[in-house]
Amino acid sequence: MKRAPAPAAAKPLARLGLRSRFDFVLHLPLRYEDETALCDPASAPPGKPVLVEARVERSEIAFRPRRQLVVHARSGGEPLTLRFFNFYPSQLKQFGRAADDGLLVRAYGEVRSGWFGAEMAHPRYRLVREGEPLAQALTPIYPTTAGLAQAQLRRLVLEALDADALDDTLPEASLARLGLWGFAESVRYLHRPPADADLAALAERTHPAWQRMKLDELLAQQLSMRLAYRARRERAAPPLPGDGALLRRFLGALPFRLTGAQARAMAEILRDLAQPHPMQRLLQGDVGSGKTILAAIACLAAADAGWQAAVMAPTEILAEQHYRKFAAWLAPLGARIAWLHGALSRGERKAALDAAAGGAAAIVVGTHALFQQEVAFKQLGLAVVDEQHRFGVQQRLLLRRKGEEAAARRRVVPHQLMMSATPIPRTLSMSYYADLDVSVLDELPPGRRPVATRLVSSARRREVLDRIRAACAEGQQAYWVCPVIEESPELDLQAALATHAELAAELPGLRVGLVHGRMPAEEKAAAMQAFASGATQLLVSTTVIEVGVDVPNASLMVIEHAERFGLAQLHQLRGRVGRGARDSVCILLYQQPLSAAARARLKVIFESADGFEIARQDLLLRGPGEYLGERQSGAPLLRFADLERDEPLIRAAREMAEELLAREPERARRHMERWLAGRQDYLRV
Ligand code: ADP
Ligand code: MG
Repeated sequence: MKRAPAPAAAKPLARLGLRSRFDFVLHLPLRYEDETALCDPASAPPGKPVLVEARVERSEIAFRPRRQLVVHARSGGEPLTLRFFNFYPSQLKQFGRAADDGLLVRAYGEVRSGWFGAEMAHPRYRLVREGEPLAQALTPIYPTTAGLAQAQLRRLVLEALDADALDDTLPEASLARLGLWGFAESVRYLHRPPADADLAALAERTHPAWQRMKLDELLAQQLSMRLAYRARRERAAPPLPGDGALLRRFLGALPFRLTGAQARAMAEILRDLAQPHPMQRLLQGDVGSGKTILAAIACLAAADAGWQAAVMAPTEILAEQHYRKFAAWLAPLGARIAWLHGALSRGERKAALDAAAGGAAAIVVGTHALFQQEVAFKQLGLAVVDEQHRFGVQQRLLLRRKGEEAAARRRVVPHQLMMSATPIPRTLSMSYYADLDVSVLDELPPGRRPVATRLVSSARRREVLDRIRAACAEGQQAYWVCPVIEESPELDLQAALATHAELAAELPGLRVGLVHGRMPAEEKAAAMQAFASGATQLLVSTTVIEVGVDVPNASLMVIEHAERFGLAQLHQLRGRVGRGARDSVCILLYQQPLSAAARARLKVIFESADGFEIARQDLLLRGPGEYLGERQSGAPLLRFADLERDEPLIRAAREMAEELLAREPERARRHMERWLAGRQDYLRV
């Protein structure tokens, strides 16, 4: 830009992410004010801001009811009073001179009728000579931040807009085909709409100028995803053919048949692993669809080819469960498995790390936290990330960077298999996850009975206890989940402890266990083990059991204060039961009164057992930012496009991205630079 912003504005501008010319050009107005026509103060509509013009007669500082600058003016023969409660002494002088010179004041704001005629309180104003032309365009109001005045920001944006020609990054043929406006035309319209613009269409962002902006934004995201995808395809990974003895023996000895969906996903995974390029595949399947076995299959393909595999889970409990399962499945085949966890003694830890570094361990299982500390491998060929959805944008970004750093250092990079039980709604998988290949398990293993869901007011807790007693008497097992109290992990813990004590007292003769996040790792492991083996019948827990825990004999789940849980969490928790042959029940205990949002969530979880539908509703109720963990990162994801409403544009952007990359890579590059400069990372986590 020609004129550098005042140094004092540098910080607020950086906060708004405004650096390059196009950052300013693409800083679009939030709304507009109409200063294109004058309104007679006497007939101004109530509650609606208007532009009025009046001749300044005199001004003074008044002290009642509080200190204020009062300007007396006259418009069309009628008095108009302007009041300013915050003002500079220079303003008094300014109005004094205006009265002497016969200037007019043009004020924008609401007009009210006061004791002495029409009044305006702290209007935005300008002093003008008679006959000065009115604005031709609506006045844009921009999102701004402390330390940056609206007028200053507006000047910078409009200067950037007018600085130079605005070329179009999209080919004309595509614009014509999609009926889209040109780029220059669109941004000019949005920064300076004509007086007769359709304000509703602008506010709802359905106006063609907005459609074009949204398409451009989505296209930039798609391009960056496709490029990330291609870059990965150019890296080298060890080919893992998947035809070795370990895998063959494992499949031969499976106690069940793979479902059709599992067989399909296996074929997709093995096909990717056989390639000399890193797989980046998301295995998406509802709770209980049988993802773990596919992780084991992939690990064995690595082991067969003489490469190591790392299996990462988000919690210690889940990591342990994976370790036990993998050990039971794979140890008989002679594959050595190391388990890294918080309760290892120094010696044990060293032995596990040595087994990873020396290559003695074919498979290493642990939490992400453990892997983020230094775990060296002799030759890592595959990384499996379970419950990938548990990680916020920031963490995913970190994992990706780590992977890329590693790739820069080494010749080959490991294949990656990510697993997620929270299905990703289609619009999300078309946008934020567009750089992944996806396998879907859309079928549950046979013999599963749907879990019956009951909504029960906490006033009927006694009946719930009776139900637990009866179920346990028949040899079944039950979970009792206490809510997490976010503001206070201490209270949270106390609630779990108190509930445990209460239930133990109320259910004499029942063996009641307890597990919570703040237990030392060994105690946690022991508590889970006791429940898995049937030694305890009722397990009181916090949400530490939310993901992955698999105890098929448990057929009853009680979730206390279900109204405090999120939808994905409720679905995950409910997925802990219904894993055996017996009919299972999930009781959602709620406390009256319910907020509207809590009621909406409970209704969704009550009515639907389908993870995809629940995820879709969740996205609708919460919006994608929160859904994707935006709040943790603080960074904006998409600024203009709305995933639900703009699905057709996402589709168009996807097609256009392919086409541009194939035919006009230079345009694609310029488009990304214009839209992404500096925020690339965030658009593709
Ligand atoms: P999730 O997809 O939630 O991770 P798991 O991998 O934990 O599901 O599998 C849930 C349960 O289903 C486990 O007990 C697992 O052994 C069992 N299972 C997996 N695949 C099959 C199958 N094809 N037939 C029968 N049971 C299966
Ligand atoms: Mg799982």
